[in-house]
Parts: sequence; structure tokens; C-alpha cells
Amino acid sequence: ERLVSSEYTADEDLFEQSLRPRVLAQYIGQEKVKQNLQVFIKAAKMRNESLDHVLLYGPPGLGKTTLATIIANEMDVQIRTTSGPAIERPGDLAAILTSLEPGDVLFIDEIHRLQRTVEEVLYSALEDFCIDIVIGKGPGARSVRIDLPPFTLVGATTRVGLLTAPLRDRFGVHCRLEYYKVEELTHIVERTADIFSIEIDDLASIEIARRSRGTPRIANRLLKRVRDFAQVQGNGTITADLANHSLEMLQVDRLGLDHIDHKLLIGIIEKFRGGPVGLDTIAATIGEEPHTIEEVYEPYLLQIGFLQRTPRGRVVTPHVYEHFHLEVPKK
Ligand code: ADP
Repeated sequence: ERLVSSEYTADEDLFEQSLRPRVLAQYIGQEKVKQNLQVFIKAAKMRNESLDHVLLYGPPGLGKTTLATIIANEMDVQIRTTSGPAIERPGDLAAILTSLEPGDVLFIDEIHRLQRTVEEVLYSALEDFCIDIVIGKGPGARSVRIDLPPFTLVGATTRVGLLTAPLRDRFGVHCRLEYYKVEELTHIVERTADIFSIEIDDLASIEIARRSRGTPRIANRLLKRVRDFAQVQGNGTITADLANHSLEMLQVDRLGLDHIDHKLLIGIIEKFRGGPVGLDTIAATIGEEPHTIEEVYEPYLLQIGFLQRTPRGRVVTPHVYEHFHLEVPKK
């Protein structure tokens, strides 16, 4: 398991749930998204209507699930949680939809992975709050219309480009979550430390925040690991020195890069003079799948300006040479 992976791991379930902010006011950062949602929620409540369908998109670990729960809390309704791949057939979706109470939030994670046939049933549910389902088979089959209570679909995706246009267009509210700033992550680390009664110095929180790749999930995970070092090797308090030392032991560098990032970047420098080099070639050189590189390793490297995508392939930027104290080659 990669410590700096932004992907959710099942064993973190309880840990994450205990850390989830419950209301918008506790949700740190994403100011634009928060301001918009605040207005839409208030307006819907004033009109006594269900909230428009909301699409949340952005990389893993930035708080999409958390936001879905907050929306339900702020609207004073229940939330039903499922995911694109979990809804296998139209009948599964029909069962979920017909069990909703008026105003409820239905949260579908990984909504870009819905089956086509399921997605088609969802269209009329979203637009007219009704579904047509076919009962029986062959010549005796007939279509029945079922009315649904008004509800709010909150869809989350890391790959908004994979959503079909008709599905995308049925969301009234589109929220794009951004990577967090170091100050915001510092705040998140402090909040988590507070919840778990962990003693941590201000500079240590900043140090952890800096190495968290803009991602709350990673910030919380690093804090948890560093706490172990504080307990075993220190006196329980996380100081900046202890944080630095532990993160070095955990092989997470000052920018949150780990050995895989190093291998990838150094590989491009040493074998391809910094690029351009094609994705498939990089993949073969470091022994990873191209799509893993594209979806898991690259986004953060692109975000911090370490890597660029050009028509001729990937190129490392001068920042990378600086980071590794290497000289930029003359071309
Ligand atoms: P996603 O659904 O986008 O993968 P989650 O909502 O599961 O992300 O968030 C991952 C973890 O990060 C959760 O434990 C959550 O408590 C924390 N988190 C995410 N966003 C925030 C935020 N804005 N403020 C505080 N904690 C956050």
C-alpha cells in the first residue's frame, strides 16, 4: 500500500467516518463550492423543495463523500449511499429509488461507472421523478410507470470526462473540487489532532500538510502514522523535528513525493534526458500499467508543475532537477 495514495482503503473506513465534518461550517476550504451550496440549500429550504441534483467531481480524497453527507444534513434529510458499479441492473436502481423518502439524498459514488441500461432509467427519474419499468418477458411484457418522491441525486466522480452528456446535463449544480492549499490542510490536520486528542506543534501540522499532496485523506493518514512515531520514539507530542524525521522514515519527501514518484521522474531524466517520452514507454520502463500512471501517479505531478503533457509525450520541468539537486541538461 502506498502511503501517499489518495485512494480510499477499506481499513480506513471507521477512521475516516469519525473525521467527517457534519455541516458546511466544519468543512474546511473549497470556499467557492461551499458558498454556492449554501445559497442553493437555503433557497431550496425556503421553497420547501428538494435540492437540485448535484454533481461533485475531482480527484480522490478531496471530500466528495463528505460533502454529500453534509448536503443531506443541511437539508435535514436522509442519505442513501451506493456506487455506480454496485447498481448492476435497472431493477436494482428501481428498488433504491422507490425506497426513498421525499427530499432524500441519493449518493452515487463513481457515477461514471453506471451501466448504460441503468443510466437510461435514471434519466426520467432525475427529470420527472418517475420511472418506466418493464414487467414480464416476451409478448406478455408490459411497461409500468412508477412515480417517485422528489429526491436529490448527488453524483461523485473522479473522471467527469467519462460522463455521458445526457447524464451530465441532468445535474443542476456542478461542483469541481480543487486540491487544498497548505494552510487549509494545516487546519485539517489540527482539527483531526483535536478530535483524537493528539498533541501537535503548529510547525509540525504545517510540515504534515505540506507533504499531503493537496489531499485531506493523505493529511489524515500521515498524521496517524506520525502519531505512532511520537508515541514510540518521542514523548507523545508531535514536534516539527519528530514530524520531519518520521516522514523521512516513511519515505515521503518534502513535497509529498514517494519512491514511486522518484522512480518515475528520475527514470524520465536518466533514460530519456527529461523527455518528451510516451506514456507506454514510461510504463514499460518503470514496470507499471499506463492507466495507473495516468490516473494515480501523474495528476499530482502535473498539478505541482513537475510534469507536462505535450503532444510528443511527457516532459519533466526544471522544478524536478531543482528538487533533486540535478543540473538541467543543455539540449
Ligand atoms: P472523496 O469522497 O472525495 O474520496 P472523502 O469525502 O471520503 O473524499 O474524504 C476523505 C477524508 O478527508 C475524510 O475522512 C474526510 O473527513 C476528510 N476531509 C475531506 N474533505 C475535508 C474538508 N474539507 N475538511 C475536513 N476534512 C475533510
